[in-house]
Amino acid sequence: MTVTGSEAPTQLDVAALLPDGAHLIGGEWVPAHGGETIEVCNPATQEVLGRIPRGTAADVDDAVKAAADAFPAWRDTSPGVRAQLLYRFADVCRAHAAELDLLECLEVGHPSWGPSRIADQLIYVAGMADKVTGHTLPTASPNMIGMTLREPYGVVGSIIPWNTPGPLMAADVAPAIAAGNTIVVKPAEDAPLTCLLLGKLALEAGIPPGVVNVVTGYGPEAGAALPLHPLVRRMSFTGSPETGTRVMEACARSLIPLHVELGGKSPQVVLRDADLDKAIPAIVRGITFNTGQVCAAGSRLVVDASLRAPLVEALAEAFSKVRMGPWHERVEMGPLISKKQQDRVLGYIEVGKEQGARLVTGGGKPSGAKFDKGFFVEPTIFDEVRPDMRIAQEEIFGPVLSVLTYEDEEEALAIANGTSYGLVSSIWTSDVGRAVRLARRIEAGQVGINTTWSGGVIGSPHGGYKRSGFGRVMHAETILEYTQLKSVVINGNP
Ligand code: ADP
Repeated sequence: MTVTGSEAPTQLDVAALLPDGAHLIGGEWVPAHGGETIEVCNPATQEVLGRIPRGTAADVDDAVKAAADAFPAWRDTSPGVRAQLLYRFADVCRAHAAELDLLECLEVGHPSWGPSRIADQLIYVAGMADKVTGHTLPTASPNMIGMTLREPYGVVGSIIPWNTPGPLMAADVAPAIAAGNTIVVKPAEDAPLTCLLLGKLALEAGIPPGVVNVVTGYGPEAGAALPLHPLVRRMSFTGSPETGTRVMEACARSLIPLHVELGGKSPQVVLRDADLDKAIPAIVRGITFNTGQVCAAGSRLVVDASLRAPLVEALAEAFSKVRMGPWHERVEMGPLISKKQQDRVLGYIEVGKEQGARLVTGGGKPSGAKFDKGFFVEPTIFDEVRPDMRIAQEEIFGPVLSVLTYEDEEEALAIANGTSYGLVSSIWTSDVGRAVRLARRIEAGQVGINTTWSGGVIGSPHGGYKRSGFGRVMHAETILEYTQLKSVVINGNP
């Protein structure tokens, strides 16, 4: 497991980086209409990092209008120039990679994963800005020419969760503005600072004011207003299924399209011939990475019955060695984001016990002075989990691994596919034939063979099957999802 942190700077002057109590609308840093603010805390210590505006529908209205004002000129900017500005945005993000990384560590509480990779995301998309093309179409008459144009929607909205705000914002902003849209981003109230910094860096890079706007506030107040605004033409949402449903309902009322990414209950299927020495560290990392607060967390271990006992024993040993603490120490796992999430995860641990699963390790808050103020939960393993238990079905969003066993391949598949989610899955085996068979039949947007996520693959589409959502981000065709198709016919002989 990569451990960083102690070599990295641990302090960041947030006040010098971002204006206090202001969000970014039309290139200006402004307070909320109502003047109220929300404190943003470090979840490891509850130290206040800064204050953000408690925006409401009035602030969203300002931001959408600013984005609408900026739209015509941005749409008509040459795609080559838009590409250059995205490359410059990437350069500025690279120059500030340490600050972006630190700020996200501070507000989310995760250990440093090294300098932010947001610049790479921007570069990947920048190269596509000038390659959005339509088609010529066959016509009934030689006097006609038919063609399609791909045009931006106008103002698009993006609602971002708190778990990895920087990369998630970049994943929406880059294709949206590359295609000529302007965007209003609503970050999560728990971790909005990295998004505000990205908005600032976009301006610094020369992206015109109003093209990227960041409005902060609570979900039901600021977030809810975004898809309902009459000038918003498309939405993207990443977060919980409950909130995703609300955003979809709002989009239905506004009759606008959206893509949603709603989490998962990702299976790690371990076959009898798996190389356990390779699988074990990856399985541990798969559920402790970001304290299990990732939609792709490998939260269900689906293991051949003959391997269960030794594998659970080895995992328990590995879990007990996961270093936990404030992110700036040499740790592998930080706290959960908030008291609410801590209560939720501890609640699921109680449900697991009540429903008869066997608690192997973890199961509570760690003790010790350094954990007192943070929202920590121990990395936890439940064995003897049945597929119908809630801890096997519901997304916990914490470091809790459920172990389920199977007797044959069909049962392995039935368990792996037996939830309403379908985001990510892994298959651990040295048998290529079985790997191919299972990869085809698993219901998930991403399948890793002998690996957890598709990290390391450039342009791997990310998104879900079933109730994990729809639409794909971070791949070559994402930019097309931010365009609408127009058919044009020219009659040369009117
Ligand atoms: P969590 O419950 O873990 O905070 P959510 O899915 O509710 O996760 O939050 C993801 C994002 O959705 C956040 O930016 C949040 O502010 C926003 N949000 C929450 N409620 C609503 C809502 N009713 N409408 C729009 N956005 C919302």
